[in-house]
Amino acid sequence: MREKPAVTFLATGGTIASTRAAGSQGIRPTMTAQDLLGTVPQAADVAEVTAIQVNQQPSASFGFAELLRICALARQQVADGAQGVVIAQGTDSIEETAYFFDLLWDWDAPLVVTGAMRNPSQPGGEGSANLLAAIQTAASAAARGLGVLVLLNEQIHAARFVRKSHTFAASAFASPIAGPLGWVVEGIPIFHTRVPRHPRLEPTAAMPAVALVKSVLDDDGRLLRALPGLGYSGVVIEGMGGGHVPMSVLPAVGELVAAMPVILCSRAGAGEVMRHTYGFPGAEIELIRDGVVPGGALDGLKARLLLTVLLSCGASREEIAAEFSARGYLAN
Ligand code: ASP
Repeated sequence: MREKPAVTFLATGGTIASTRAAGSQGIRPTMTAQDLLGTVPQAADVAEVTAIQVNQQPSASFGFAELLRICALARQQVADGAQGVVIAQGTDSIEETAYFFDLLWDWDAPLVVTGAMRNPSQPGGEGSANLLAAIQTAASAAARGLGVLVLLNEQIHAARFVRKSHTFAASAFASPIAGPLGWVVEGIPIFHTRVPRHPRLEPTAAMPAVALVKSVLDDDGRLLRALPGLGYSGVVIEGMGGGHVPMSVLPAVGELVAAMPVILCSRAGAGEVMRHTYGFPGAEIELIRDGVVPGGALDGLKARLLLTVLLSCGASREEIAAEFSARGYLAN
């Protein structure tokens, strides 16, 4: 009989692990990695699973130091022989954590991030189904070489595209640009699409502060103007539509470009930032001419993470522009 692949399961809390203690008002993460693994005895059919409790916390409170520690632990598991790694966490920040891990992940072994929208005490709580499907995906040869994947609701998403798009629905996770890469069908992960990988980034210094600012009507730019004084090293502006800001903030954007890298994304929720279409003041052609870097299909959350990691790698302005072009756009 062939040996089953080794999969490491790292548990960090989240709704998937949350229960309500008697007398308390709301749910909190309490179930351990072993408790969670105990809910999916079927996992033993596809993998030898090692469960590790990493921490127990709401995912909104992850910091970069903690994420680097979790990523290093996951990488070490693969170096020690795991053929895949599953991380269970709160869903609030999965779209950020998974992309952060993806920037740092160069193994062929899949890293699959999962969670749950309904807690285990709710009817239809889907945490164990997600965990089982995540383990099946982490153990699967078909998932190798795809980087970091996000699995919820039987769908397998690429970290670079996935977004949380609903506050409570089990179908909250979507990849508006590409759709899910694949599905887990009757326990078998299948992929309809594969995405190109990019080289691993290696943060060498502390993570600098990068701000994310959404463009809004009648903005006078005072928030943007305050950023250098607040110690920020970079900023991502989520512009309107194809990548447009109000004319009234252009002086502030000019000051910022002189002080730090400025990335332009769209608040629209899907689609790439335009580069060659609109010629009015505040639109992409002039912004790019004046030194703003277009972020392509990356949304503001993901662009902020990419800029943070690039700055911590010591990337120059030219290297930052080249990385956003390569990672944000499919055609250059
Ligand atoms: N609502 C969250 C979840 O889905 C809580 C969190 O992100 O920790 O797990």
